[in-house]
Amino acid sequence: MYVIDQIVETKKPHVCGSSSWKVIRTGASIKLECQGCKRVIMLDSFELDKRIKKSK
Ligand SMILES: [Zn+2]
Repeated sequence: MYVIDQIVETKKPHVCGSSSWKVIRTGASIKLECQGCKRVIMLDSFELDKRIKKSK
């Protein structure tokens, strides 16, 4: 599961070069803010599971 303010790292970096994202909304869809360019994306939680390196 994901929690608000959790930092996750994706396997592939964002276009801006950062691979760190902050969880800003949880639920069936997860909202993530890129820590490099502050862009916000939304992903289904199962999609996010596949894209991150680790979840602690
Ligand atoms: Zn970015």
